[in-house]
Amino acid sequence: MWSWYLQVIHEGHMGINKCLSRAKERVWWPGLRRQLINLIESCETCLKNKQPSVEPMIPSKLPTRPWEIIGADLATHNNNTYLVIQDYDSKYSEIRKLQNTTSQAIVEYCKDVKSHHEMPTELKSDNGKQFESQEFRRCAKEYEFKWTSSSLEYQQANGLAESAVKLVKRILHMNEDPFGLS
Ligand SMILES: [Zn+2]
Repeated sequence: MWSWYLQVIHEGHMGINKCLSRAKERVWWPGLRRQLINLIESCETCLKNKQPSVEPMIPSKLPTRPWEIIGADLATHNNNTYLVIQDYDSKYSEIRKLQNTTSQAIVEYCKDVKSHHEMPTELKSDNGKQFESQEFRRCAKEYEFKWTSSSLEYQQANGLAESAVKLVKRILHMNEDPFGLS
């Protein structure tokens, strides 16, 4: 189990500092730091990425405040569908169980997010049909946020948030209690 978490944290080969900060936000156990350093020091891809010729991964546009840019994705677990929303700035994620996967349900969620956070100016998502519907576009227009399909961008530019969503998805798949870590 521990090595599984190490692999997830290590995903993307982003080097020791990125991996440690990624771990800090999500999971900790005694010896984690040492194990992570050992893993990365023995990883050829990570060592290659340390060469100065490789550009660091930078998101296409950096958020300047929390909830300015959010990522959205759908995850399924035990026949339930969850909407995963992640703030690009704080990396904070919210998971909601959806009663159905229509655009309507997602639009309702957007309205709910607005009631307890500032409304995002940009929402990035995979090319889900729910996000491409007229209804969703109307909602985006009404609340004045821009919708961007993350698949239209280079995977690398969007790498950080993408793997965070994947991490949440995997946690959903691994656990009977989708909100627990153990
Ligand atoms: Zn690596």
